[in-house]
Amino acid sequence: MGKILDGKAFANQKAEKLKEKVKNLKSEGIQPYFCVINIGDNPASKLYVKTKKRRSESVGIIQKIYQLPENEKEEDVLALIDELNADKKVYGVMVQLPVPEHINANHLMERIDPKKDVDGLTPANMGRLWQGNHFVEPATADGIIALLDYYHIDLAGKNVVIIGRSNIVGKPVAALALERDATISILHFCTKNLTEYTKLADVIISAAGQANLITADMIKENAVIIDVGINHVNGHLVGDVAFDEVKDKASWITPVPGGIGPITVEFLMEQVIKLTRKANGR
Ligand code: NAD
Repeated sequence: MGKILDGKAFANQKAEKLKEKVKNLKSEGIQPYFCVINIGDNPASKLYVKTKKRRSESVGIIQKIYQLPENEKEEDVLALIDELNADKKVYGVMVQLPVPEHINANHLMERIDPKKDVDGLTPANMGRLWQGNHFVEPATADGIIALLDYYHIDLAGKNVVIIGRSNIVGKPVAALALERDATISILHFCTKNLTEYTKLADVIISAAGQANLITADMIKENAVIIDVGINHVNGHLVGDVAFDEVKDKASWITPVPGGIGPITVEFLMEQVIKLTRKANGR
């Protein structure tokens, strides 16, 4: 059976390190502080925002939530971003995605000051990521690479297959794996035959949001499997990977829950600390 990449244990260790970093900043009179703008009533978004707040507080970071109504005008959200960009005590600004349909998320991303871009989703920071010249990274992607490092899984020269091309996971994790000298394939809805690629993969990172997408017959013996997907099936939380059958063929595998989920929020906190340090010349 494949060994478990224990995201929860890794996240707990990370949290201890973050507490230490925050303590050091506070001893210099610097308080890491960031703001989350949540627009509308999406229950999943509200839950994510609350989870982030709980985790922030537990490591000593202040997170302020701006809960805006579903019908908030785009120009008013932009004005709020301007205000937070100008506020010296605020080191990070993020907009919880998705936003209501009448608002263009790209306009909001373009407006966030790249120096306060906790999510690493502004055009400037996405560009820096592909240039290999970045100071902030989308949290899930950063967390995946850190988890592989923690387990000494080297990506150099490996075939890495990523399923999903979102700005928050697929594209940034591709950029970071490329930086680690992996050979990358990014698969998506229009990819004709997933198995043709997954069979050759040393590492599969699935961020599709489709339960049972990856089955044992699709992977090669001893592949490393990173399951980012979050799906609700019959009241249970599952990933994209048919865990029970794939685990026997994989060398390493992340469970869902307890894999990438807990890591993501800790790595978001890591970005807040990085931006706070940078803004204070550390
Ligand atoms: P998304 O939901 O915006 O898009 C899904 C992507 O997967 C698209 O690029 C699509 O082309 C691709 N895709 C979907 N079904 C496919 C299929 N059958 N074959 C090939 N490609 C397919 O992407 P996202 O926002 O990155 O989210 C993906 C999943 O990851 C969701 O389940 C989301 O909840 C989860 N997620 C988890 C975390 C975490 O911390 N664990 C963080 C972010 C996202």
